Formats: sequence, C-alpha cells, structure tokens
Amino acid sequence: MANNYRSKRFDAIVVGAGAMGSATAYYLARRGKRVLCLERFGIPHTMGSSHGHTRIIRLAYYEDPSYVLLLRRAYELWRGIQSVAGERLLHTIGSIDAGPEDSWVFEGAWKSARLHDLPHEVLTGSELHRRYPGYHLPPEHLALVQPDGGFLNPERCIVSYVMAAQAEGAEIHGHEEVLDWEPLEGGVRVRTERDTYEADKLVFTAGAWNQNLLGVLDGLATPERQVLAWLQPTRPENFRPENFPVFNLLVDEGRFYGFPVFGVPGFKFGKYFHLKEQGDAEELDREVHGYDERVLREFAERYFPEGCGPTMSLQTCMFTNTPDHHFVIDLHPDYEQVSVASACSGHGFKFASVIGEIMADLSTTGVTRHNIDFFRLDRFNQQGQRRYETNGGKRQAVRTVSKNNRKTSQHEENGRQNYEENGKPHSFPRVPDIRTFW
Ligand SMILES: Cc1cc2nc3c(=O)[nH]c(=O)nc-3n(C[C@H](O)[C@H](O)[C@H](O)COP(=O)(O)OP(=O)(O)OC[C@H]3O[C@@H](n4cnc5c(N)ncnc54)[C@H](O)[C@@H]3O)c2cc1C
Repeated sequence: MANNYRSKRFDAIVVGAGAMGSATAYYLARRGKRVLCLERFGIPHTMGSSHGHTRIIRLAYYEDPSYVLLLRRAYELWRGIQSVAGERLLHTIGSIDAGPEDSWVFEGAWKSARLHDLPHEVLTGSELHRRYPGYHLPPEHLALVQPDGGFLNPERCIVSYVMAAQAEGAEIHGHEEVLDWEPLEGGVRVRTERDTYEADKLVFTAGAWNQNLLGVLDGLATPERQVLAWLQPTRPENFRPENFPVFNLLVDEGRFYGFPVFGVPGFKFGKYFHLKEQGDAEELDREVHGYDERVLREFAERYFPEGCGPTMSLQTCMFTNTPDHHFVIDLHPDYEQVSVASACSGHGFKFASVIGEIMADLSTTGVTRHNIDFFRLDRFNQQGQRRYETNGGKRQAVRTVSKNNRKTSQHEENGRQNYEENGKPHSFPRVPDIRTFW
C-alpha cells in the first residue's frame, strides 16, 4: 500500500499532452524530474488546437517584434528535438507576410526584420508572382519574404516530444481526463477519471480547456472555431514546398494563412477567426458546412486560382484567444506551485518548444531566464480586463472593472488601440521601446 501511494506522487504533473504539454513534459523529464503528463484524448488527436499536418513558423514577427528573441530559441529547440527524434519536423521553405504597403501584416513584419537584422526581401505582388507563380496578389501589395520561415509538422512534433519524454522516464497517460485539482501544503492533488495523484508542482497546458480548470483564466482565454480547407491544385508544380513559401496575407476579405501541399493532397489555407464563432470548447461546432467552404474558396479563387481544384479535406480546429491576442504564461497568482501556459491565440505552435522550456523553468525554480513579462496574467488584472462589442463593423473596447477593482487608467487607454476587424492585437503601452524590452 505504501509503495502504491509513493508511486502516485510526482515532482510535476502536466495537464494536456498537446503542443505545450508534450514539450513541457520532455524538458522537465530531461532535468531529472519525475513527471506525469495526463491527456484526455489519444496522442496525438484532432480535437484540440494542434492537428492538421502543418503550422507556420517565422522569425520576423508582425504581431510584435518582441517575440523574435523567443523565436530564435524556439528554432534552436526545434532543431534539438528534431535530432533527438531522428526525423524532420521543421521545414524551412521560406515565408511571406503580405498586404497593402501600410498594413500591419507587411509593415509589422518588415519593421521586425529590420529591428532584429533578419534576412529578408521585399517584393511587390507582381514580383512575387514571377518568383512564385502560385501567388496572384494585387500587384501593388508588398510582401516580406523571409528565408527562415517555413512550417512544422504538429502531430509529429507532439509524438516526438512525448517519446523523448518517455525515454527520459516521464509517465504519459492518454485517455485520462483531469476532473479537478486542489492545492495542498507544498504540492497539489489531481483527480482524474481513473485515479488520484499528488505532485509538488502542477502545470496547466490544457489548451482550449484551460479555463474550465482554472478560474483565473475566466474570460481571458476564449475558444474559437476555425475551419481549414485543402484543395487539389490544378497546377501542382506551383504548390510544392520548394515553389510555395507559407503565407500570412491581409487582403480585402480578411487575414489568411496557407501552406504548400504536405501531408494531404491539397493546398491548405484558412482565415484567421473564420466566422468569429466563440464558445466553450465542448460546445463549438466540429462539423464543416457549405458556408464555411464558400468563405475559403472565394479567397482561393481570387488569389490562388490554380490552387482551387476539387476539395480534398475540410477540418475544424480551435483557437484560444486572450483579449489582446498575446499569450498567457505565468505562475498562478494564488498558488506558486501551479503554472499555466495558455491562450496561444492562433499563433502559438511555433513557440511550443520554447514555452516547454519556460514551463519547465517556472515549475522547477519559479523563474525563467526568458522575459515573459509580456505574457503575465496581471496585464489584465491590474489594467482592467477588456471586452469587445461590435459598433458599426468595428470592435469597440469596453472597460470592465478588474478583480482588484481597478479600472483601466487614462494612460493605458491612450496607449492602446481598439481591436480591429482584421484581428490586429493591441499594442503594449508598458513597453516604451521594444529594443530595451528583452
Ligand atoms: C487552425 C489553426 C491554425 C493554426 N496555425 C498556426 C500556425 O500556423 N502557426 C502557429 O504557430 N500556431 C498556429 N496555430 C495555433 C497553435 O496551433 C496553438 O496555439 C497550439 O497548438 C496550442 O497548443 P496547446 O498545447 O495550448 O493546445 P493543444 O495542443 O490543444 O493541447 C491541449 C491538450 O490538453 C488536453 N486536455 C484538455 N483538457 C484536459 C483535461 N481536463 N485532462 C487532460 N487533458 C486535457 C487536450 O486534449 C489537448 O491535447 C493554429 C491553430 C489553429 C486552430
């Protein structure tokens, strides 16, 4: 009996073996920690946020240039796990961030490339078409082309991290849902559908389900339905990885991302925030409908006319969004033995390697050498959590009173931008000069 009890005590329990959880389990186990990682579905699976064969990775970052240092480390760690796994996970085939000259996608990526001295080229829409004939952007649009961009294979990344963690001694359980948890003196107790465990530390990497287990994320991590299409190209040579860099495009129809043919016999693409359907992860619609496909086909017909032959596959997936569309990576405000990585807002996969390292840091020492001020929960608690309403086609920020009863200050109000229809994140008023931030 005593032995049995001891076997259920761990140094750390990780909830969720998706992108962030599998990496966290590995980096903890590699430090000699006794790790249990619990996953409610199989490993890997198609019910969360990390399926679909491809995820974009890029260095110049239009969302905010302060992500670039983290990205440099993410690339190093992806190459590390790739060599442990003995298979190719990272495909650096180039990436394109394009839109009108003054658009935040093009301008933000270009600014980020210059600020961090990253290799890049700027091409017009016509020049881009001559180099990569699959692309038919408006001729006056500008595209930042970066050779370091490309894609990761998410299912294989998760499998590689899980197998590497197991090789380091981690216990990983699929089909075991965490039902609840409670803090203990010097640890935590976790109850699952199969058993009860104790550990010194608890890490939440439960993706779209995080806020169901963590009250502190209430209203800060909102799941959103996404739809992906894979269409058979009529000119397949223009959509092979060697001829077709991944893209982020801002066009009249919205913001879209896409990939060459890989894993499924079709050109893959999706629209950020698709039809803006938000809700509980358990309740979001997992079916794909004719109207979903129409939104995606109209885009492809205009900008990738040789990319839209017969439909090969359609899938749903979930974003988990914070109000400012930046991540949450932090210790629990009340229990320092509990940490969370969440709400990767549609752009988190590429960071999973470095977030795994950060979570291993936080759960072993409570601190990390990476600067995560950018992702702290108190940016919402102290500044007043924002919510949004639609007003004449624009989203308008509504001030709400935060948990500690502070309202958003006028200074913060001035420094922030309203969240626009095209999904542009807020600027960070707390970071006066991004170069001094890291
Ligand atoms: C359509 C789409 C396209 C995207 N494109 C890109 C891209 O190109 N580049 C990029 O960088 N990012 C992209 N993202 C974002 C990125 O994929 C996500 O940020 C990332 O995969 C989130 O990883 P996660 O570990 O938080 O969630 P997940 O990988 O979903 O992992 C969470 C895990 O926790 C498990 N879990 C939940 N609750 C419990 C419980 N109670 N007990 C046990 N286990 C539980 C879940 O089953 C799941 O496996 C995209 C996302 C989507 C949906």
